[in-house]
Amino acid sequence: MTALRRVALWTDGTVRAVAPDEPVVTAFDQGLGRGDGVFESVLVTGGRTPHLDAHLTRLRRSAELLELTHPGEEAVRTLVAAASADWPADVDGACRVFLTRGLGAGEPPTLLALLAAVPAETLRQRETGIAVVTLSLGVPADFRATAPWLLGGAKTLSYAVNMAAQRHAHAAGADDVVFTSLEGRLFEGPTSTVVWAADGRLHTPPVETGILAGTTQARLFARAEADGWPTAVTAGTVADLHEADAVWLLSGIRGAARVTRLDGVQRDDAGLTARVAELLAR
Ligand code: PLP
Repeated sequence: MTALRRVALWTDGTVRAVAPDEPVVTAFDQGLGRGDGVFESVLVTGGRTPHLDAHLTRLRRSAELLELTHPGEEAVRTLVAAASADWPADVDGACRVFLTRGLGAGEPPTLLALLAAVPAETLRQRETGIAVVTLSLGVPADFRATAPWLLGGAKTLSYAVNMAAQRHAHAAGADDVVFTSLEGRLFEGPTSTVVWAADGRLHTPPVETGILAGTTQARLFARAEADGWPTAVTAGTVADLHEADAVWLLSGIRGAARVTRLDGVQRDDAGLTARVAELLAR
């Protein structure tokens, strides 16, 4: 069976769909050699991309932080439409948009989109939850706010550390990670935002720590507030997660994955995951 995959490419101001096995990037691309670029993962569901706008905004912000040439929001919109045209409505897909420095030195950027089905394991985690370990990033919580060269808040292609952290978690028998600061403050997951329920509120750590501003967390918090569930930005610790009524890792592709084990300690969700899922699905 041919895998369900799509690729679309922007070149010279034009977008075209290309065969998934067609070579599209030069070996000299700075994105390949240095991870010098940014990306977004956009959910395709019911044949649509309902949350695309928030990803377009963040892609632009990431490009600004890296001083990358951005071909314009309309180009990215057309690219995603080309990649997701005719995508089956009953298959959730992950559309990854990549923008790199291309060949650098005044040459145009590379912009392309890949679309593939959301992996079965990701769908499983969405339904049954995840075991998580906390791992330190070794920087003080307020350091990245004063260190723009660390690119806090940008969704860069340099995810090798994030992937290594997840492999470390897998080797320890867990599914995923929550990164913490030198002092034990909460940051984020390698591909997700941390959210916890406590004191009748939903909480998430401040973006001033250099974490990514999660589009799924923003959507959840806006809808929770409108639904009478207060929200707060809180500089939490791992102890706060242990004491919370529920903890989730949120991302556009996986949705809200409830944390069922934290650093080896079983925990439940006080039945709150259904409400979170319902708010996200509205
Ligand atoms: N934090 C990091 C480091 C991520 O890679 C992601 C996923 O894209 C998120 C948070 C969650 O962002 P979103 O909800 O926009 O998918």
